[in-house]
Amino acid sequence: MANEHIVIAGGGLAGATAAKTLRAEGYGGDVTVVGAEHRTPYIRPPLSKEFLLGKADADSALVVPGDWYGENDVELLLGSPVSRIDPDGHLVTLADGRRLGYSKLLLATGARPRTIPLPGVDLDGVMMFRTLDDSLRLRSLLKGGGRRVVMIGSGWIGMELAAAARTYGNDVALLGLEDIPLSAAIGPELGLYFQRLHEDQGVSFRLPASAVGIDGQDGKATAVRTNTGEMLPADVVIVAVGVVPDTALAEAAGLEIRNGILVDAGLWSSAPDVLAAGDVANALHPFTGEHHRSEHWANALNGGKVAAKSMMGQDARLDVVPYFYTDQFSLSMEYSGFPSLTFGIPPVIRGSLDEGSFIAFWLREGNVVAGMSVNQSRVQKPIKALISNRVPVDVAKLTDPGVPLDELVPG
Ligand SMILES: Cc1cc2nc3c(=O)[nH]c(=O)nc-3n(C[C@H](O)[C@H](O)[C@H](O)COP(=O)(O)OP(=O)(O)OC[C@H]3O[C@@H](n4cnc5c(N)ncnc54)[C@H](O)[C@@H]3O)c2cc1C
Repeated sequence: MANEHIVIAGGGLAGATAAKTLRAEGYGGDVTVVGAEHRTPYIRPPLSKEFLLGKADADSALVVPGDWYGENDVELLLGSPVSRIDPDGHLVTLADGRRLGYSKLLLATGARPRTIPLPGVDLDGVMMFRTLDDSLRLRSLLKGGGRRVVMIGSGWIGMELAAAARTYGNDVALLGLEDIPLSAAIGPELGLYFQRLHEDQGVSFRLPASAVGIDGQDGKATAVRTNTGEMLPADVVIVAVGVVPDTALAEAAGLEIRNGILVDAGLWSSAPDVLAAGDVANALHPFTGEHHRSEHWANALNGGKVAAKSMMGQDARLDVVPYFYTDQFSLSMEYSGFPSLTFGIPPVIRGSLDEGSFIAFWLREGNVVAGMSVNQSRVQKPIKALISNRVPVDVAKLTDPGVPLDELVPG
């Protein structure tokens, strides 16, 4: 076993945040971050929003500035993924053959786009979307407008990319398996709200519909065929049908896997001295007593911090209320809570959908379990407090915008 050497496999938000936290908390041992991508660790939310729209540069997406690593004695090995981990020998092997001993290992390998076996998916003009390079490529395709874009997938990323494509003045057709986009996540009423927002901006939906093939000419995509018999002309086809946790290393090493790497609230896996954080981790949440795997920015940020503290021997737990956000056209949405506790529960609304400014609350047995704010600022703190307090609320007051939310939070 290496003497006090923390190795972090995965150079994304969770991995880089863990390195940053280790140094901020005074860890004096060796730290190595191994990233499969050639790029200094960056955050992904801007890739489908302000960076794609040309409103932000790549540096603003860095988790920490590039020179932070050297200044803080953190070794950053980029462009060669970890290809094998050996928990018994406390050893990782990189694809280029380098071997590193570790005292603690954090797996922060994230997630990768789900693929679909679609005829024509390899044609030029067809792409998946996860990385900064994907965003640069798509920006060059969308800029200038006038292209026909077919989006396969009506989840958060599909909807954000559709908004960006439309904002650039392209024609956008969006296919999804659901009757209403996002309805599995936020229910039909609010899903319809997002659909209308997009339709008002000219996005054309095909729901429910799936792509059965992509046609091409001279190696380039020209159209997407649907299961409803339509032929949608296309210059650009984006496949955004969700992600799968990147568990390959953990699986090969025999770690317990269940919808991601199974970890406890301190983010410890089933193998000694191996932790997991971010999109790849399915972590026990003390609030629900169940495991949750989140594919959101805040989970990677908080998970990176907790993993670092755990590796330093602190009694850390990932117990914050989950949070995520999205920006689409002029809409800015923030969500705190536990989506798994909201299934089948219609939300109550504070404010007005028609006026485009509201909060949707989901309640179970009188307690708030999730709250989604649209175009409202500074409300997420009381929403999180309402959720974590587990105290039944007066729905009449909750839905009355005249009653400040802070007044509903006990203590
Ligand atoms: C386009 C886009 C927009 C998003 N927008 C939002 C948003 O608006 N709000 C929100 O809350 N969330 C958003 N998310 C989700 C959020 O970005 C993710 O939850 C977050 O990136 C997860 O961080 P991570 O560090 O766990 O994984 P990742 O960011 O995926 O980083 C993991 C890194 O590990 C690398 N890796 C994989 N295998 C290995 C290996 N064997 N060895 C070394 N390195 C390896 C990968 O290449 C990758 O660079 C968005 C995601 C995308 C793709």
